[in-house]
Amino acid sequence: MAIMITSECINCGACEPECPNNAIYEGGAEWVLGGKTYGESQLPDGMADGFWSAEYFYVVPEKCTECKGFFDEPQCVAVCPVDCCIPDPNREETTDVLLKRKEYLDTVGR
Ligand code: SF4
Repeated sequence: MAIMITSECINCGACEPECPNNAIYEGGAEWVLGGKTYGESQLPDGMADGFWSAEYFYVVPEKCTECKGFFDEPQCVAVCPVDCCIPDPNREETTDVLLKRKEYLDTVGR
């Protein structure tokens, strides 16, 4: 499953530079996939919303591979000082799905 950041986030920013998929963005920031920029209400076709935050760092689920393909454990989880990076219970995904996502991101760009 993708990682999500809860409202316990203190906006320290430790996670963002550690993400190999560029899946983490500061609250209120636009995000990028495949060279295109999206905002709060702009989503690629078929992507579920509900992840964007104006107040604290957020993870774009369709860019998170739980660090599969790069590291043995999710890097944001490892560095977060308040343990607010947690598995998203609404986005359970198999390792196969996560590795296919990495391949997709390799192709389209992060
Ligand atoms: Fe990025 Fe890895 Fe955290 Fe997913 S688990 S948001 S890929 S650092």
